[in-house]
This record gives sequence, C-alpha cells and structure tokens, in this order.
Amino acid sequence: MARSSNITMCSFCGKSQSEVKKLVAGPGVYICDGCIVTCKGILDKENRRDDGPQLKDLRLPRPADLHRHLDNYVIGQEHAKRVLSVAVHNHYKRLLQSERESKLRKITGFDDVEIEKSNILLIGPTGSGKTLLAKTLAEILDVPFSIADATTLTEAGYVGEDVENIILRLLQVADFDVKRAETGIIFIDEIDKVGRKTENVSITRDVSGEGVQQALLKILEGTICNVPPQGGRKHPQQEYIQVNTDKILFICGGAFVGLDEMIARRKNKAVMGFGAIATPEVKKKDDEQTRELAAVQPEDLLGFGLIPEFIGRLPIISRLQPLSEKDLIRVLTEPRNAITRQYRKLLAFEGVDLDVTRDGLQAMAAEAAKRGTGARALRSIFERIMLDVMYDVPGRDDVKDVVINKAVVEGTRPAVLRKKKKERASKDAA
Ligand code: ADP
Repeated sequence: MARSSNITMCSFCGKSQSEVKKLVAGPGVYICDGCIVTCKGILDKENRRDDGPQLKDLRLPRPADLHRHLDNYVIGQEHAKRVLSVAVHNHYKRLLQSERESKLRKITGFDDVEIEKSNILLIGPTGSGKTLLAKTLAEILDVPFSIADATTLTEAGYVGEDVENIILRLLQVADFDVKRAETGIIFIDEIDKVGRKTENVSITRDVSGEGVQQALLKILEGTICNVPPQGGRKHPQQEYIQVNTDKILFICGGAFVGLDEMIARRKNKAVMGFGAIATPEVKKKDDEQTRELAAVQPEDLLGFGLIPEFIGRLPIISRLQPLSEKDLIRVLTEPRNAITRQYRKLLAFEGVDLDVTRDGLQAMAAEAAKRGTGARALRSIFERIMLDVMYDVPGRDDVKDVVINKAVVEGTRPAVLRKKKKERASKDAA
C-alpha cells in the first residue's frame, strides 16, 4: 500500500520517521541515520582507494637495498637474493617506465623499446626459503602478495581449481582494488608437479599437467583475465572482474628432485662427445664441480614434463641451497622475526626472560635436519618444547627466566624455570 505523502520519510530508503533514530532534513529531502552510515561507508571506501598506494607512489629500492632488506629475514641463499633483487627492481622499473611512456606516447606519439616481463623460477628443496623470499620482497615493496599451489589446479572445466582463482586470491588481498592487484606478486608453489604426466600422446586429456601449463602460460605472459568474484567455477550468467596480468610478477617455486642428476647427465654427455677419457677420479671431481657450478639450462626442465613455451616464460632461474645445520641455528636466532625472538617477546609480557643455550639450538637444528623439511620443521620443534612453558609461566610471579638446553630439546627433562632471587633466598632461609 502506498504511504500518504504528508508522512516525513527518508528520501533514500523510504523509512518513516518512527522507523529510524534520526531523520535529517534538507530542502525538500530527508535522509535517515542508517543511510548516512551507508553513504559514509561508500565514501570511506572510495577515499581509501584514492589514498591507497598506487604504482606511481611505489618506492623503488635499488637492488642492493632490496638485498640488504632480504638479509634481515632470510638466512643464506646469496645467489637467489642477488638474482631476485635485480629481477624485481627491473620488473617494477619496467612498470614505472611503461606508465610514464604511455602518457608520453599519448602526447608525442613517441615509441620506445618495450621491456618484456621476466617471471622468476626458484628451484630449491622444501623449507629453504623460496616462499619466504617472495613474500619478503612483496612486503618491502608494499605490493599485494598471494600464494598458490600448482598441484590443486586443473584445466578449466575439470575437477580442481581454475587458474583464475590464483588471480582472485591476489584481488582479495588487495581488497578488490584491481589497479593495486595488477602490480602484485604471486608465488606459485610446486610448479615441478604440473609436468606432463606421460611422454606418450595419450587418448585421455592431460587436464592437470599440460592443460594447466597452457592455462598458466597465458596469465604468466600477460592477459586480460576474467575473474569470478566469488571464486569457484565460471558460469555464463556470472559477472567477472577483469584483471590484466601483464604487470603481475610471477615467482614460481619447485624442488625439482633429481635435477642434479639430469644436469650431470647432460654435462657428461657433452664431455663424452668431445672424446674425453673419464677415469673414475676425473668423473668424481667433475660431478662435484657440476653440482657446485650447475647452472640450470631450460632443457634440463624438459625432463620434468614442462613444455618449452612454459619454461620460456620463466627466463630468470635461481637455485637455493639446502640449509645446513649451521644455517638452521641462524634461522632460529637471527631473522628479525626469528622464532626464539617471538617467544622471548611473549615471555617478556610476563616479565620472564628466555635463554636458549648453544647446545639447545644445536639439538633443535640437528632434529630439524633429520626430518628433511629444511627450516619448516624448526617451528614445530620449538613450539612443542615451549608448550608446557607457555602453559605454566603465565600467572606465576616467581619465575625469572626459562632455560632451554640440549636435554630439554631431546625430551629427557622439562624446561628449566629459574626462580627470582627473593624467592630463592626465602626458600634457603626456610
Ligand atoms: P619453501 O622453500 O618450501 O618455500 P618456506 O620459504 O615456506 O620454504 O620456508 C618455511 C619457513 O621456514 C619460513 O616461514 C621460515 O620461517 C623458515 N625459513 C626457510 N628458509 C629460511 C631461510 N633461508 N632463512 C630464514 N628462515 C627460513
């Protein structure tokens, strides 16, 4: 039923004065408190977008500065740090240049050399810092960052995730600010697992191997990608958000188990081709050198079922070394957010100090090395040890510090809770 015209009501939502808390009057119009809040939300969102960091605001650190920042968070991996610092610097320089030039071109018709995008491939064992490097770079540059797992992807239309969902995740991180997402970094893990499943042409489609590579190839190259805002499968009635992936930097990571053997085989083949006499000693020395100096050639990756076009889209390749026990000790203590520092801070809230002894650190590193998951194991080992401490200490005001030594790590005794002097003195007197 239509309301009578002499009732004062909100011109936006139509609620009457009695239905709202406040109705503000203007010349011939009214707005209720609810609609004011909604409008303010819209304006705030717009302002946030305008104020948000745009490409032109990007502070572009020099490669040496990027390297120094990475040193604060990542132990070792000097080669990868160097390669990434240069590659990331060049990538964002390219974006800034292309923005400037497109403006210039509009005015002058001037056309210059176009710098092509160079995505990056990081090869290294699990827990060696591939994801950490990519994430830290995004943090330094203050650009959106997301991680995708290549093993969950399948060619569109088949069971599994569509490749567009990778872009959706970046959009979500960027608060659906498309311009900002378009300058982000995406890390695709386990890229060595999207290899073609068989060398033979099979009658069934290879939807999780080559199909995925073809789909990834497009977004790596740079394309306008139609992203379904709610994720999931695409369907014809849906509205899409269009994202240009040309400016998105893709860093792919994989363990590529067995790569050394493939490189050694290639090198040996080359040596044999020139008629060299490979005595066992010479061969052993060669193998060691090969391992040390092994520069990965794109053809080595063909053996993992990666198609040449796909490899071609990852022209910058760097190898990460497995972390030694010495490195693992450094991981525990040196990075700005090292796990021992985090727990020291947590305990400091209770006025308690944390002392992890040298042999304690060594024992943790040794246990992590045994598990073969690199630095990944360190957190779970440390958290297991600290569980009882974090259970017991809060609320106790007699503890001065907690000592974690080798025996505690090996589980032969509980963590040592050293008491405050006053407590000890009164105990001694008793
Ligand atoms: P992956 O090489 O498998 O991608 P990650 O980068 O995810 O390994 O490492 C897992 C965790 O291990 C990181 O969050 C970090 O805490 C730690 N870590 C791994 N490598 C390093 C490193 N080189 N320096 C410092 N911490 C590291």
